[in-house]
Amino acid sequence: MSTEPASPPASLPPDTHTHTRLCRHATGEPADYARAALEAGLDTIACTDHIPFPDDPQPTIRMALEDFPLYLEMVHAAAAEVPGCRVLLGLEADHRPDLVALRHLDRLLAQDDFDIVLGSVHSGPFWDLNPDDPAATPAFVEDMWRTYFRRLTDLADSRLYDAVAHIDLPKRRGLRPPPSAIRDMVLPALDAVAEAGMAVEINTSGLLHGAQEMYCSPDILRWMAERGIPVLFGSDAHRPRDIARAFPEAVAAARAAGHTHRAEFRGRKLQLMPL
Ligand SMILES: [Zn+2]
Ligand SMILES: [Zn+2]
Repeated sequence: MSTEPASPPASLPPDTHTHTRLCRHATGEPADYARAALEAGLDTIACTDHIPFPDDPQPTIRMALEDFPLYLEMVHAAAAEVPGCRVLLGLEADHRPDLVALRHLDRLLAQDDFDIVLGSVHSGPFWDLNPDDPAATPAFVEDMWRTYFRRLTDLADSRLYDAVAHIDLPKRRGLRPPPSAIRDMVLPALDAVAEAGMAVEINTSGLLHGAQEMYCSPDILRWMAERGIPVLFGSDAHRPRDIARAFPEAVAAARAAGHTHRAEFRGRKLQLMPL
């Protein structure tokens, strides 16, 4: 007797947040991610390696500027090597106001036809402070969240990026201010994101972190739906086998928060697709 399901499983949305070995803290090449995506039932991924910096403060965990042409080559090669999986060209760009003035991102993006640019705020005392660190007082935690969301508002106002990556990253190690304080600092940032016409990703890597939940929280997902900010989906995979991790749960969370559509980017243009 056949054990085949009566109907094929519903297809999963594209995974638009992945990293390659070039960033020196991930494994695998774009083609490996594309093959893993096909196995997971996806037909589209985006490669979004961390942006290289000219004056890199952390050169051992980031792509070197001279590797950038190789990155572009590898992404295009994957699209040709793995038929059946569309491989979008993307970048995860840390928002550094000092480099905005130098048009660093513009210069990189001018080298190819990019599909999607994720904007993120990694630097600052945001996600690496341990809950048992004596510095992690309630006042400090609230202050670090506030600083983060101020920088996120600046990121949105810059109009340089298509979507926000892991929007509530300060919870990475499990440190959170009270819900009312979170609301007060997140809503203005979301208003700026909506004003900029950006999307926000559901990043499932939070499930592996001290945060113990996806980025963004159910509250933030709901506030996004109220503002018409569309979702997209990213595993933030640093190894091919993590592609599309917890995507069925992420789709369910988006629907539960009131999202009926998801964002899709091609050539940096946003399209809404039914979810
Ligand atoms: Zn990374
Ligand atoms: Zn990432």
